[in-house]
Amino acid sequence: MADNIDLLIVGAGPAGLGAAVAAGSCGLDAAVVDEYASVGGQIFRNIQLPCIEKILDERTLGIGRKLVEDFEKSGVKFYPNTSVWGMENTTVFCKSPDEVKKISASKIIYATGGYERPVPFKGWTLPGVYTAGAAEMLFRSAGELPSGKEPVVLCGNGPLLMALAVHLTEHGVPIRAWLDTGKFSSKLFASVHMGRVFQDMPYFKHGMHLALEIIKAKVPIITGVSAVEACGSGFVEKVVYTKNGKRYELAASALIRHEGIIPRIQIPSALDMKLEWDSLQRYWYPKTDAFGRTSLNHVYIAGDNAFVHGGESAIWKGYVCGYAAAWDLGVVPDNEIKVKSEEFYRKMQLLCRARDYLRYVFAPNPQVFDIPDDTIVCRCECVTAGEIRQAAREGFTNPREVKIATRAGMGPCQGRSCGTALAEIIAQTTGMNAEQVGILKCRQPFSPVTLAEYCALHA
Ligand SMILES: Cc1cc2nc3c(=O)[nH]c(=O)nc-3n(C[C@H](O)[C@H](O)[C@H](O)COP(=O)(O)OP(=O)(O)OC[C@H]3O[C@@H](n4cnc5c(N)ncnc54)[C@H](O)[C@@H]3O)c2cc1C
Repeated sequence: MADNIDLLIVGAGPAGLGAAVAAGSCGLDAAVVDEYASVGGQIFRNIQLPCIEKILDERTLGIGRKLVEDFEKSGVKFYPNTSVWGMENTTVFCKSPDEVKKISASKIIYATGGYERPVPFKGWTLPGVYTAGAAEMLFRSAGELPSGKEPVVLCGNGPLLMALAVHLTEHGVPIRAWLDTGKFSSKLFASVHMGRVFQDMPYFKHGMHLALEIIKAKVPIITGVSAVEACGSGFVEKVVYTKNGKRYELAASALIRHEGIIPRIQIPSALDMKLEWDSLQRYWYPKTDAFGRTSLNHVYIAGDNAFVHGGESAIWKGYVCGYAAAWDLGVVPDNEIKVKSEEFYRKMQLLCRARDYLRYVFAPNPQVFDIPDDTIVCRCECVTAGEIRQAAREGFTNPREVKIATRAGMGPCQGRSCGTALAEIIAQTTGMNAEQVGILKCRQPFSPVTLAEYCALHA
């Protein structure tokens, strides 16, 4: 792996690949690393395999395959199975199964995507409980879907759940119910912004198609649901929930939960980048300009990692960011780069505006964090919601203090799984809002490394 390059791109999803194609077209000496074995990220992984044709619609498939082909022609190197775990100035530390490596690059783009908002609830550690993303990945990688003697129950609020519901019905997996945890007021308020979605007609049609398939399949949608629990001895056997103050039970083989996607801010927070709070989607995201430049001089952010706008927008965000890096490096005349990037900038703006509707309609309901005291929130350190509430009542009102008092967030995932819930529970207990509470910061190394790997790079 080259040690001194113009541009390093972390993440080979739609944004990372878009950035790489742009960088390649400007003649940059660039490389892409990804902790997975193949390019494509969450949405386009294994896109060249024939089995994906059954999973993605024709349009998405075409966009993904063209992007991967353009990347292969770009001349930008790809390093698979390579995870970035640290950074000092312009040097990034990576590891793969065979080696640990430092890469120095004049500019670094983090295109590390988003992940599903982790929401703890009673029984969430029981086998048979999935997130919608995990169920989708199982389907895409092994062609399997959660199923059993009883139907499955879906629960939550977000577009990924719609796509999954259609995959389940298309493949004959019965759905007992969709327990909708969203707020009616959000959906009502969202209608004011509905006009935005018409700016991207293919996307609107795709959404309508999913909605019609769900209606055709007669999936019972139960709104106004709270206090969801997965119950069973050793495996999910039933799902219990509350509606209008009454408890209900549904026999089920699996519970699939999804409460939206949030940006991965572990690396930006560890690097002390400036972050901003989105009060509708209730997540933190790195402060960037329209081209992905962050508060750190040589670091850029592209794709869902910057703000969640979905796969297609991520491609154009990547292109714009790749051109911005080339521009800042001064390798291409200003007027030439302006012409090159203008089309992508327009596309990016249009798609981001259109997807903004989803931000309103699927606004998360903070009540999902109103969970019983004995529910485990931090899975690494087995810390319960009750222990976190107790610490907050004792005066520990920011996530770092609660971490020190309870060990929540002190395990190997560094709060990636429990950080959001931790902040929401502190906010509920103290009456502060989640923005005031702040975030549980990650520290380097971003992911676990062995002492030998660490020493190899710091010797
Ligand atoms: C679980 C899940 C399933 C989804 N399914 C769908 C779907 O069916 N349809 C749809 O339209 N949208 C889907 N989405 C949304 C869509 O995938 C995203 O909008 C899109 O992929 C964002 O592109 P991206 O390039 O920003 O990030 P991603 O596609 O997430 O790519 C980020 C890449 O960065 C890599 N990475 C992260 N951290 C590191 C690190 N430290 N070192 C090295 N590499 C790293 C990851 O391995 C990944 O390949 C899904 C999202 C999720 C989270």
